[in-house]
Amino acid sequence: MPFSDIYKPSGLAITYELFPPKTESGAEALFHHVEQLLPFQPSCITCTYGAGGTTQQKTLEIISSVKERFGVPVASHLTCVGATEEELRGYLQKAQNAQIEGIVALRGDPPKGEKEFKVTKGGLAYANELVTLIREEFPDFQIAVAGYPEKHQEAPSLEVDLLNLKRKVDAGADVVLTQLFYENQTFESFRREYEKAGITKPLVPGILPITSFSQIKRITALCGAILPQGLSNQLADRENDPEGQFEIGVEFATRQVEELVEMGVPGIHFYVLNKSQATCQVLRNLNIVGSTCS
Ligand SMILES: Cc1cc2nc3c(=O)[nH]c(=O)nc-3n(C[C@H](O)[C@H](O)[C@H](O)COP(=O)(O)OP(=O)(O)OC[C@H]3O[C@@H](n4cnc5c(N)ncnc54)[C@H](O)[C@@H]3O)c2cc1C
Repeated sequence: MPFSDIYKPSGLAITYELFPPKTESGAEALFHHVEQLLPFQPSCITCTYGAGGTTQQKTLEIISSVKERFGVPVASHLTCVGATEEELRGYLQKAQNAQIEGIVALRGDPPKGEKEFKVTKGGLAYANELVTLIREEFPDFQIAVAGYPEKHQEAPSLEVDLLNLKRKVDAGADVVLTQLFYENQTFESFRREYEKAGITKPLVPGILPITSFSQIKRITALCGAILPQGLSNQLADRENDPEGQFEIGVEFATRQVEELVEMGVPGIHFYVLNKSQATCQVLRNLNIVGSTCS
């Protein structure tokens, strides 16, 4: 599953991001949702890696099960948090043994309760170092890295952040998946700067269809993405109407994805949050089926 095959200039690749459920019953429910998402022909399904490395075993289990049950190419997220280089190698070896196709290589956020990312003794400081390690020692993995249209929260400027993003790509990343965002203009101006910086790998927008106002307030507070005032007002007007919030979220995501497709993006990375309804509805509304299911 080379990402160069997935992201073809004329196609639109659909990818989904899951997270490891806490319980057995959560895992079964997740597989049901994945089944609902399959008719849209995802090119790849990814699974996050918990803060502090807490869910690493679960990540591998879930992503291996998705691959086994549904035959879809998969990628495991991997962060540098709390791990020595040796431990990162150990995880990569396990992922390779499980025939996982891709790694979403990340530095990770500081563990709960800590404000700053601290490098583990014998560990890595930035995602570009993890990309280098993977490229040199596990060359068969496809590698995705994170990009931030609204700038990473710790970066002093977008310019500096882009230089650091370029470092990750130059180290060998195949594709950049973005943090969620709600203003396509922000993505468009980021894409311009990305190209000006000389980065040529596919840039894939990350989309989170909103299904609950309280949940999206929590998520955007954590990741720093801006919720447009108009959208926030609309959701606030439906404060006590969960169905209304879902409808607003799906309609907004439909228009957002429609415009991004017109803008010629090579794919959409859906943060599905382990539920299928909103993403399925968006794809159905637009009659989108992924173009490159391998
Ligand atoms: C698509 C996507 C998936 C994600 N999945 C997960 C997940 O599974 N688990 C999880 O815990 N988190 C996940 N995150 C969140 C991510 O871990 C955080 O945003 C984290 O704070 C930064 O990770 P990074 O890989 O972008 O870091 P980096 O690219 O290392 O950047 C971190 C900061 O350091 C700066 N920087 C980078 N390289 C250098 C350098 N060489 N020298 C100096 N400064 C540098 C950057 O500008 C940035 O401000 C994900 C984010 C995205 C967008």
